[in-house]
Amino acid sequence: MVLGGSTPPASLLKSPREIDIMARGGAILHATLQAMAAAAVPGISTAELDAIGEAFLRSHPGAEPAFKGLYGFPAAACISVNEEVVHGIPSRKKILRDGDIVSIDVGVKFEGMFTDSAITVPVGAVDGPTQRLLDVTRRALDAGIAAAVPDNHVGDIGAAIQAVVEGEGFAVVRELVGHAVGYAPHEELQVPNHGKPKRGKRLAVGLTIAIEPMVNVGTARTKTLMDKWTVVTADGLRSAHFEHTIAVTPDGPRILTRPG
Ligand code: MG
Ligand code: MG
Repeated sequence: MVLGGSTPPASLLKSPREIDIMARGGAILHATLQAMAAAAVPGISTAELDAIGEAFLRSHPGAEPAFKGLYGFPAAACISVNEEVVHGIPSRKKILRDGDIVSIDVGVKFEGMFTDSAITVPVGAVDGPTQRLLDVTRRALDAGIAAAVPDNHVGDIGAAIQAVVEGEGFAVVRELVGHAVGYAPHEELQVPNHGKPKRGKRLAVGLTIAIEPMVNVGTARTKTLMDKWTVVTADGLRSAHFEHTIAVTPDGPRILTRPG
């Protein structure tokens, strides 16, 4: 049971030096996602996109893909198209088409520290409702990050995300959540994308977390495909996912997976 007001264990709190290392890895991660987004054009397969990302990432000395082999995942990136929510396995058979949306989720290990970030990008030209899904999901992430200030609680992040998403008539996925990150790709603290203000662990300075709303056009419910990885919406309608790794600092949230 998570008691409101309790502080996360000190073992999750990173020093300023460790946070700076994460920011250096996070800058490589950001550049990797930008390179993959630029390559996400009609006709490319998700396996080719993954290979481009992995080669770009490894071209930076000291940087490695964190997801490859993690729990047995076979690729550097999770690449999820349209109704796929997260954890799509890159495939030569999966070809991006004009009007699709593609979520790209990558983890980086750099100098022993981990960062995690995701974007969802349009392939060619998407319709208006799809663009609105992307805009709202990104805005929900921004709202969640803005709530990640010292002495707020994990529930404040989820409440902020949920308010944006549901205010626009979309649905927040419950089965999958954000998480603490840093010494490992996933650390023992969950950051749900829904919740109530002032509930859950207190946000202490030095906490580093991945905030990652998954937003569905239709039902919030999901199911997992036979490959045991790919999570899809239960109704087949589209889903978007944006994620940043942030640090809680005395000056407010510091986004580590974005330059500056
Ligand atoms: Mg991720
Ligand atoms: Mg994550």
